Amino acid sequence: MANSWRRERWDSLRLLTPNWQSRLPGLSYDGADPDGYMTMGEVTEFIERFAKVSRAPVRTGVNVTSVRRAGDGYRVTTGDGEIACQTVVIASGACNRPSVPPLSERVPASVAQLTPFDYRDPGQLPDGGVLVVGASATGVQLAAEISRSGRPVTLCVGEHVRLPRLYRGRDVLWWMDAAGVWEQRYDEVDDLNRARRLPSPQLVGTPERATLDLNALTALGVELVGRWAMVRDGRALFSGGLRNVFSLADLKMNRLLDTFDEWALTSGRDAEFDSPERFAPTLAPDSARLQLDLASGEIRAVVWATGFRPDYGWLDVPVVDEKGRLRHEGGVADSPGLYALGLPVLRRRKSTFIHGIEDDAREVVEHLAGYLAAPR
Ligand SMILES: Cc1cc2nc3c(=O)[nH]c(=O)nc-3n(C[C@H](O)[C@H](O)[C@H](O)COP(=O)(O)OP(=O)(O)OC[C@H]3O[C@@H](n4cnc5c(N)ncnc54)[C@H](O)[C@@H]3O)c2cc1C
Repeated sequence: MANSWRRERWDSLRLLTPNWQSRLPGLSYDGADPDGYMTMGEVTEFIERFAKVSRAPVRTGVNVTSVRRAGDGYRVTTGDGEIACQTVVIASGACNRPSVPPLSERVPASVAQLTPFDYRDPGQLPDGGVLVVGASATGVQLAAEISRSGRPVTLCVGEHVRLPRLYRGRDVLWWMDAAGVWEQRYDEVDDLNRARRLPSPQLVGTPERATLDLNALTALGVELVGRWAMVRDGRALFSGGLRNVFSLADLKMNRLLDTFDEWALTSGRDAEFDSPERFAPTLAPDSARLQLDLASGEIRAVVWATGFRPDYGWLDVPVVDEKGRLRHEGGVADSPGLYALGLPVLRRRKSTFIHGIEDDAREVVEHLAGYLAAPR
């Protein structure tokens, strides 16, 4: 139970969603620190509590090795026997494997390579420079932690989502909740494919409720370079145009803050909050390095914070596309009686977050119940 939080996360990780937002059907946070962020131990306890409250018949430590169509239902093979069923809900998560680009194969053997699944704390890394690839939630958090351990850190920055931790005195995720951003439905999103691939926001959950954007990292001494484009002759080559990448992220953040301000006015609640504010633009280095010699010894380790992907190696039903993504329409997969939950923007923008499951699950289960009730 809570396998991914227990085994696949680094030691210092806390949720980036505030405690008050950690809610599952029938279980809300009732502790003393609603504005804090859970440690991994606390998340595990929360999920264990949910298993008790929900009284679901949980079987832990059982691996599903195959799901295949059988008659008008499915046959599920597990490490603990077979199950025949009419319907299956795939809730195996969106982040089962780290997503590492093929250019990793061209990194010289003298440089250690780690994914967030391998990484536990900076002490595990060799002394010397560390290249963190990817500047979304995982990348910025690991870059900050490794930099604080005294190692020189270079961070490769591609498209990213910049957010302040607090805005007008409230958690930025409170604003997203209040202004209805999380609720936006999959069939209302302009470009659903893009929305589903959006990187996670540059946020960290700390007791200080600190902002961890690229300016904060620059202040820590982290060197910013562009997206890692290729390896040639043992050199990492980075894209240029960092300034444009930064401007775009700043623009998008400001538009989101505009949405919050507009909501505060139209809801008549403007006076409850501090005054609107805008943050300093992301500071671009004077001349970002375009290449780095991986064989020089400057970089001793690469940490791939390049995202995660689901793993459907066990799913013997042809519903996975060539990119390894499940084909579904709002959680209804392309095979009768097969459903999914917990995938990016499955039915709403909040679908992959803990608090996103309740509304999605209700609607998907309604469909499933209709399917079971229909004559076949
Ligand atoms: C680094 C990181 C930080 C995150 N931080 C936050 C956060 O702050 N707030 C938030 O709301 N969300 C956060 N998320 C998203 C988070 O993953 C989801 O909110 C939540 O865990 C989704 O729950 P889930 O049950 O859908 O998937 P998961 O938690 O991934 O659970 C899926 C489960 O299925 C199991 N499984 C997979 N395949 C099989 C199989 N073949 N047989 C048996 N079991 C299988 C897995 O072992 C796992 O236990 C974060 C994700 C990551 C990767």
